[in-house]
Amino acid sequence: MGMKLTLQLQLLPDETQANALRGIVERFNEAATWLAGVAFAKQCANKVALQKHAYYELRERFGLPADTAIRCLAQVVEAYKRDKTVAPAFRPHAAVPFSMRKNLGFKGPDRVSIQTLTGRVVVPYLMGAYQRERFGFAHGQADLVLRRDGTWLLLVTVDVPDGTRLPVSDFIGVDLGVVNLATTSDGETHSGEQIEMCRTRYAKRRQRLQRAAHVAQMDGKRPKNMRRALQRTAMREARFRRDVNHGISKTLVAVATGTERGIALEDLTHIRSRTQFRPPQRAKMSGWGFAQLRSFVEYKAQLAGIPVVLVDPRNTSKGCSQCGHIAQANRPSQARFSCKQCGYTTNADFNAACNIKYRAPVNAPQVAGLLFHASRHGLANASDKLPALADSR
Ligand SMILES: [Zn+2]
Repeated sequence: MGMKLTLQLQLLPDETQANALRGIVERFNEAATWLAGVAFAKQCANKVALQKHAYYELRERFGLPADTAIRCLAQVVEAYKRDKTVAPAFRPHAAVPFSMRKNLGFKGPDRVSIQTLTGRVVVPYLMGAYQRERFGFAHGQADLVLRRDGTWLLLVTVDVPDGTRLPVSDFIGVDLGVVNLATTSDGETHSGEQIEMCRTRYAKRRQRLQRAAHVAQMDGKRPKNMRRALQRTAMREARFRRDVNHGISKTLVAVATGTERGIALEDLTHIRSRTQFRPPQRAKMSGWGFAQLRSFVEYKAQLAGIPVVLVDPRNTSKGCSQCGHIAQANRPSQARFSCKQCGYTTNADFNAACNIKYRAPVNAPQVAGLLFHASRHGLANASDKLPALADSR
């Protein structure tokens, strides 16, 4: 199957080239924000439909080259799908995707040709030995990134065989849950009373409105205003949740970047089709916008160039992170973990976060100065660190 990595190349544009790059980046994001407004207004998350509707206007209004406009459509649909409660807004210098052999092409080992609003520019770049070794696997997409310090980067996606060693030596395990939204293997908790208070307030308000609407209906009145109030509350709640999720994901990625570690999360993609997950675990993941939080972590990590590894989620909550012993009795309460075998006692979410961390491939060597993103492919067997956990179902 292989896995996807993102190699990071530093571009060395002269002043004229840098202006051309800045021009296409700013125009692309301006166009994307406009297009996102169209997608939102039409509630359209389908690329083909959106293309049919907006392609010509997109090119005409913003003067985008054909391949750039196509990339813009894909980018907008992807962002809108992540969260349909708002029209996504793109930062002026957000990363811009290019298609290899279309609007971007490598010219030998040290120069890349990039299409801008004023034609192609051929820019020199730096590539390390590690990147060079894996560069032959490059395909499809490259993201152009302008960092705040003015550095230009090209993030190139490559397919590499399974088992390719990762350039980080350590991972932060992150456990997601309803009480503590995110707990890390460093012992950091993201939840807080304020978030809890807001959540409770929204839940109560929703209940009250629903009850009132019901009563009005019983009296033969049409509860139109109440329904509207209910909708407004739902929107406000979604916005609040999104802000919190943005904040948490930003912090997690910043800590990982600052300490040169990857992030390990539970792989919950197949949770619905796997019978060994009982309803409580499913309920645990549906209450808050966890799918959103996970996708925020993944794409922020990708932009930051740090690997995200998805690990086998079995028994992360009732297995002991110290000795590997698994038992329901290890959880005397929702909040506490106490191992029946070795006696290790700690916060239950912290224990789970440590299990998640240990299942990431911690044996990978450190390669200085190299950053990349490992996608979900290929790392499923990383749980051999904890054989006891891996064996039981
Ligand atoms: Zn134990």
